[in-house]
Amino acid sequence: MTEYRPLKIALLGAGSVGSQVARLMIENKAELAARVGAELELIGIAVRDVNSPRNADIPKELLTTDAQSLILSADIVVELMGGLEPARNYILQALNSGSDVVTANKALLATHGPELFDTAEQVGAQLYFEAAVAGAIPIIRPLRESLAGDKVTRIMGIVNGTTNYILDQMDSTGATFDQALAEAQSLGYAEADPTADVEAYDAAQKAAILASLAFHTEVPLEKVYREGITKVTAEQIQAAQRDGYVIKLLAICERLADADGISVRVHPALIDRTHPLGAVRGAFNAVFVEAEAAGSLMFYGAGAGGVQTASAVLGDLVSAAKRHVAGGPGLADSVHANLEVLPIDVVNTRFQVTLEAKDEPGVLATIANVFSSRSVSIETVEQSVRVDKGVRSKTATLEIGTHAASNKALQDVVQTLSESDVVDSITSVIRVEGI
Ligand code: NAP
Repeated sequence: MTEYRPLKIALLGAGSVGSQVARLMIENKAELAARVGAELELIGIAVRDVNSPRNADIPKELLTTDAQSLILSADIVVELMGGLEPARNYILQALNSGSDVVTANKALLATHGPELFDTAEQVGAQLYFEAAVAGAIPIIRPLRESLAGDKVTRIMGIVNGTTNYILDQMDSTGATFDQALAEAQSLGYAEADPTADVEAYDAAQKAAILASLAFHTEVPLEKVYREGITKVTAEQIQAAQRDGYVIKLLAICERLADADGISVRVHPALIDRTHPLGAVRGAFNAVFVEAEAAGSLMFYGAGAGGVQTASAVLGDLVSAAKRHVAGGPGLADSVHANLEVLPIDVVNTRFQVTLEAKDEPGVLATIANVFSSRSVSIETVEQSVRVDKGVRSKTATLEIGTHAASNKALQDVVQTLSESDVVDSITSVIRVEGI
């Protein structure tokens, strides 16, 4: 028995996620009403074309192209259209008319988040976005609520399933990047235009959202350092395996105590195969959070998929609806810390540099001097020389592991080595994370 009036829910979008949200709202209507204490009445679903085929069985009479009217009649608006406009405009309209909003739109939040959150705060409405990062995995609520009394020091996430699938295929089958990408596309894990995934734009948007929550700081997307996985080679993957590492595309958000700021970056990195993130296979996602009091926490699961993402959307919808029933201010995201988002140049990481150098006396000392002259301390050196049919190669392969060094210093080392007479080529420069 529910006593509160039915809450009017407007859905914007009936694609992969929206159609599943609609289906689950209809199928689980009684259960959701019992949990909320009020019926959730789906008053309509805005789409571009009401005649397009849908993934799930949705009553056709709910579909409309008139999003504006739906928004004005709703208590809660669920935005699942994607893209920047008109999604931004619709969300602002919904908030300004007093509705709470649920969205999965990471691109919009990473680009216009401050404007949307400010509007929500001014009008006393709530903006929920659990589904915007890592699909079904609950990570936004833990950062916003569960860890609100702790101090997050670092987040490392595998937040893009497509790139994790590609890197995992390269690792497990020896495939090249192009081969693994083609396979991901044939299985529907990668889009025909994979740029947003493989160039890490998608992961950078998620990193910006995670960092702003973790560090209570506005993180403009343009301050997120971004490197994709298109240049990762089969040789790098094999070398990583030999050394007990695996290559992952990591979204890293960390406090830099020395520099009094934060670093937010996305790039491929070597991580120990025994690290919890090293074991994340296929298209799965995981977010590894380090906090001062809580220690290390790992959140793992499906990072995308219509029905999986719909689970996170429905969780937000239930929270929003409960707030209507019970009242109260809900959560406010704060940017009170206002930490500086520092450039990649000042970030200290360990590196692995692989190069082909002349196999002659004194060469190793010359190369070591280049590192030390830039204050980059070498931790390990492995040297090997290829012998082909009894003939020794004229160059040696040097794999040099560094202690933590600034990205700027390492770049200077690489630049100087690439101009050096004793170095034939630099075949790999990759960061080592998770130590
Ligand atoms: P989608 O399959 O492309 O569906 C988009 C829906 O929005 C379609 O129903 C489309 O209508 C409708 N739409 C688009 N522009 C519209 C407009 N101007 N007016 C009215 N309706 C409009 O997208 P999706 O994969 O469900 O993703 C939705 C959101 O969830 C995105 O922000 C995405 O980043 C996020 N997300 C998705 C996943 C996932 O696994 N798919 C995971 C996490 C987060 P028509 O059907 O008529 O074209």
